[in-house]
Amino acid sequence: MAVQNNGSSESFIKIPEIKFTKLFINGNFVDSISGKTFETIDPRTGEVIARVAEGDKDDVNLAVKAARDAFDNGPWPRLPGCERRRIMMKYADLVDEHAEELAALDTIDAGKLFSWGRTMEVPRAAELLRYYAGAADKIHGETLKCQESFKHTRCSEPIGVVGHITPWNFPATIFFMKVSPALAAGCTMVVKPAEQTPLSALYFAHLAKQAGIPDGVLNIITGFGATAGAAISSHMDIDKVSFTGSTEVGRLIMQAAATSNLKSVSLELGGKSPLIIFDDADVDKAADLALLGGEICVAGSRVFVQEGIYDDLVKKLLEKAKAWVVGDPFDPTVDKVQFDKILSYIEHGKREGATLLTGGKPCGEKGYYIEPTIFTDVTDNMLIARDEIFGPVMSLMKFKTIEEAIKRGNDTRYGLAAGIMTNNLNVANTVSRSIRAGVIWINCYFAFDRDCPYGGYKMSGFGRDMGMDALDKYLQVKSVVTPIYNSPWL
Ligand code: NAD
Repeated sequence: MAVQNNGSSESFIKIPEIKFTKLFINGNFVDSISGKTFETIDPRTGEVIARVAEGDKDDVNLAVKAARDAFDNGPWPRLPGCERRRIMMKYADLVDEHAEELAALDTIDAGKLFSWGRTMEVPRAAELLRYYAGAADKIHGETLKCQESFKHTRCSEPIGVVGHITPWNFPATIFFMKVSPALAAGCTMVVKPAEQTPLSALYFAHLAKQAGIPDGVLNIITGFGATAGAAISSHMDIDKVSFTGSTEVGRLIMQAAATSNLKSVSLELGGKSPLIIFDDADVDKAADLALLGGEICVAGSRVFVQEGIYDDLVKKLLEKAKAWVVGDPFDPTVDKVQFDKILSYIEHGKREGATLLTGGKPCGEKGYYIEPTIFTDVTDNMLIARDEIFGPVMSLMKFKTIEEAIKRGNDTRYGLAAGIMTNNLNVANTVSRSIRAGVIWINCYFAFDRDCPYGGYKMSGFGRDMGMDALDKYLQVKSVVTPIYNSPWL
């Protein structure tokens, strides 16, 4: 097993053996029906890591058949909740046991820092499984008082066969954000991971089988969006699609659901989140939070800075951004397409008259890294202030009053997240109530908790991942009405 260092003291990784490259259908790893495969690339080097089975409509049909059968006839939805909990707990332990290998897979497949995957993303993914495992035996019904002569029971039932379609930026987290509540609810599912990052999902399928999740409950189709993804969103036998990705693809998924079987849809989409820094904020901390952006859907890519702190913050940001480039490579873009897209936005910013404070170029000769890039003199109507760039590009904008910050912060078609930096409680309360976004961070950013529902307003989507709200997405309500002692029906 080769050992590699990507530049930082704690990022030695053992390059893992690629054990799973086939589709996972009904408990078995199988070739795609067409026999086709596609390359998965290491974004740090641009080199091919492995060839992975390319699933399409025919393979999706097989996977849905397996999931349908497991739902209609198999044990999973019928198990007592405590039994689903036990199996999910075992699954979580297996994820923990294999954390090193899983993190290494996402390092070579998604370019993620190994130390982050090993200590944060993979263990937290296992915790997501445990969190929802704990809910599996607490899905209750309710007896309602309605008319005197009827007993009315409100039951929560699993929604059925779910299609999960996921992006590449958090392969482990988003996989378990979706799969864990669906498993706890008693659903069966077909997952299509992003074509850029198929490897860890296949490994998770292998661990699911080892944990005792019955065949057909969790199926994985690796492949492309326009073929495998579209086959899921338009499938007549899938009851729900849970999607995380771009707003453009979210729209296609809704259209496909509308023109097929009107399946339930939930969408976690893009963002252009504002970070609003008031004069009284600590400059050093504000600069750190502002630099957290990058290929994160919630990135505070529009940074509004009150005029009194603006010059100091620009100075501090420049200092920190330069130090960052010399240190670890960060935020590799996962493929050449995204890499070129970010560079073209940077050129656009320059042409539109924004001032390039720092960055703007690829980082090093190999791989798809881009320097942390900061533009000043950005106006609200520039493309770099409006479009989701999904890369390490920050737009700095000056404001005077709280009213102006709210108005400009809300001037976006997105509504995923926002950050506020101030020590003034009144300002923090007013702004957090007034910004139309699903998550608001006050004096922190990118702070997630499994208990905290997460999702967007406006064109950032609808439905929530995490928290008990996510469990509700995979349940549906049934009313059962029974005549009782004095009913005319008896
Ligand atoms: P993407 O929309 O290009 O792809 C996401 C997934 O959709 C992939 O699996 C892809 O194969 C699939 N897909 C593509 N076309 C499809 C189609 N026609 N039908 C069905 N599926 C299709 O997104 P990406 O580039 O992988 O990820 C980046 C985007 O994801 C950004 O916009 C980012 O903001 C968003 N994102 C949002 C969140 C959130 O929680 N809101 C989290 C992470 C990423």
